[in-house]
Amino acid sequence: MEPLHRRRRKIHCDPDPPRQNATLVMLVRNFELDDALSSIRQIEDRFNRRYRYPWTFLNDEEFTEEFIQLTSGMASGDTEYGLVPKEEWTWPDHIDRQKARASMRKMEDDEVVYGGSLTYRHMCRYNSGFFFNHPLLLKYDWYWRVEPSIEFYCDLNYDPFKFMKDNNMAYSFVIAMPEYPTTIPTLWDATQRFAERYPKYIAKDNAIDFIVDDQKGIKGPYNFCHFWSNFEIADLNFWRGEAYSKYFEWLDEEGGFYYERWGDAPVHSLAASLFLSKERIHHFADIGYKHTPWLRCPTDDESYFSGRCLCNRHENFDEHVYSCLPKWFQIAGKSSIK
Ligand code: GDP
Ligand code: MN
Repeated sequence: MEPLHRRRRKIHCDPDPPRQNATLVMLVRNFELDDALSSIRQIEDRFNRRYRYPWTFLNDEEFTEEFIQLTSGMASGDTEYGLVPKEEWTWPDHIDRQKARASMRKMEDDEVVYGGSLTYRHMCRYNSGFFFNHPLLLKYDWYWRVEPSIEFYCDLNYDPFKFMKDNNMAYSFVIAMPEYPTTIPTLWDATQRFAERYPKYIAKDNAIDFIVDDQKGIKGPYNFCHFWSNFEIADLNFWRGEAYSKYFEWLDEEGGFYYERWGDAPVHSLAASLFLSKERIHHFADIGYKHTPWLRCPTDDESYFSGRCLCNRHENFDEHVYSCLPKWFQIAGKSSIK
């Protein structure tokens, strides 16, 4: 599919800085323009104006001229605007729509967050199984997922894509927390069956202790911890690879994106925890970040006293009882969250 639009960046006097083969990517709706601009402005000011990485905007509907005009004006790098293919934003044929609708009604009555929303389910399935193969993304190896309306509190004085590449990282996160169990009643069961059927995809030194407590391994119960995927800097080729492709197909066949409300966050997290060695997952402790309703701020003295960050280091989700970060540090071999 051809991109809807492509805008060249403005002329800059200084030469292009070295860059990785990477893009900032935002899946977004036209009515979220103001919130999108706010996120772009912050990522640009805090990081990207020095690197001018290209932005890729994706939407299930055509972007308006206004959206294109204003976002391309704010971006320091090139911008591209793509349409999500229709067949990737709908329920697959094997889904029993009546059954799915009944379950959506039930989840809505039970006040499950987004329980009654079909488009939310399409979005989660798209982020789980398709975005990395969008024609506009195929030329890239790395992406940084940005959502509208986030806050990015700190100057980032190095290139995180280069960091990821140089350190052989494949996936990264800032905030980790438990998923609502009512949205994924059978996701773990499906994942356990997948692991049993395809043991060859399970990485040797994996991060299963992040998702299963007490070293019970794959037969143990899921503790619902997941990396909060509204922020991700990751290797597109991990999602494109055989293990994850097979895993997504398996989950899609199960139908839980519709019969339940499987989010891309737990799906990505389970995959990263099982198919990657834990050394390849990075926590960006130096990033200050907010996605409503939670925020975290770097706690170290350098971040605080250098004035690099505009957030209160004592107001921090990392120390919240819901945070899964302590669990991450346990398995990553770090003793504290400081
Ligand atoms: P939440 O973070 O789980 O509350 O969900 P969001 O509403 O923020 O959605 C997650 C991401 O998908 C955001 O980048 C949204 O802009 C985007 N998104 C959600 N629903 C749609 C949709 O129907 N169409 C498009 N184009 N983007 C969507
Ligand atoms: Mn969001």
